[in-house]
Amino acid sequence: MIPAAHPLIGDEERFAVDRVMRSGMLAQGPEVAAFETEFSAIVDGRHSVAVNSGTSALHLSLIAAGIGAGDEVIVPSFSFAATANAVHLAGATAVFADIETDYFALDPAAVEAAITPRTKAIMPVHLYGHPANLVALSDVAQRHGLLLVEDAAQAHAASVNGVPVGAWGAVASFSFYPTKNMTSGEGGMVTTPSAEIARHLRLLRNQGMERRYENEVIGFNLRMTDIHAAIGRVQLRKLAGWTAKRQANAAFLSSAISGVITPKTAPGAVHVFHQYTVRIDDHDRDRFAAELTARGVGNGVYYPTPIHRLPSFARTLDLPATERAASEVLSLPIHPALNQNDLDTIAEAVTAVAKAGS
Ligand SMILES: *Cc1c(COP(=O)(O)O)cnc(C)c1O
Repeated sequence: MIPAAHPLIGDEERFAVDRVMRSGMLAQGPEVAAFETEFSAIVDGRHSVAVNSGTSALHLSLIAAGIGAGDEVIVPSFSFAATANAVHLAGATAVFADIETDYFALDPAAVEAAITPRTKAIMPVHLYGHPANLVALSDVAQRHGLLLVEDAAQAHAASVNGVPVGAWGAVASFSFYPTKNMTSGEGGMVTTPSAEIARHLRLLRNQGMERRYENEVIGFNLRMTDIHAAIGRVQLRKLAGWTAKRQANAAFLSSAISGVITPKTAPGAVHVFHQYTVRIDDHDRDRFAAELTARGVGNGVYYPTPIHRLPSFARTLDLPATERAASEVLSLPIHPALNQNDLDTIAEAVTAVAKAGS
């Protein structure tokens, strides 16, 4: 079976963990500080603040940006639930807008139509590693006096017009969950151009303290450990090579697959292929998935149910591009551990299943 995801953990990561274990200092310390400094290099030098998960990053990024009770935040419904959960955990309300069919991210026209007097922010998700339409969304945000808050959990080192994701918003969040393009075990990072917001984030993650027992605000314990940061630092050094491999794998699959709609990349965008997601538009997607599994090709549906229809939100909305994506998408293995044999197997299996069903 070719797995749908395959976290790559090598000796360097093991040695890094051992170094921290031997130091006797396990909680947030010098490794976290170094990880933050090194991560800033992939977000055009913005401030980086590490936390214990991508969800924590989103949650704190919203609070630190001043978003809370009474505010609305426009989000896609076609995402992982953490996107909208974070808005509600911060005390605000998620307003779901539809997506662009080709790129699976917020449609700027739908966002503009969803703005109300209570709207405070627009929160695009760079789904599958393809950046949202940041030029148009920044323009909408600017014209309406709204904050741009990026969910970059799936898109480390993606960019638009040479500017990396995480360097567009007032705040942006990344995840280091094991299946993401780089991991720290669990972990997250908030990036921001504002020294003031960065300081607020550092307070919020650590009980509101900069100096011990001088708690300035009401805060959480959402710190990253030095053990996790040590893993993240090694993975960050490998990210560029892995991203190039993901992109090369995607280029091969798109050239070799026929019978389904392969992923598109917008002009000016760099896609980092967290997922390689095809559309199964004229077959039964779930049967197609089962056929691939039977042929040894792992696959996944991200996400089968739009957030607004999950029991946790249960809203009745008309989001046609979102519904269509949820019923048609199928992600194939794309991770850097694939070899040419695997890639050939994937392409042949997809093409054969598409042909058999047409
Ligand atoms: C993974 C992910 C998150 C949450 O990150 P965790 O590290 O799992 O908490 C948030 N948003 C999106 C789009 C994600 O893919």
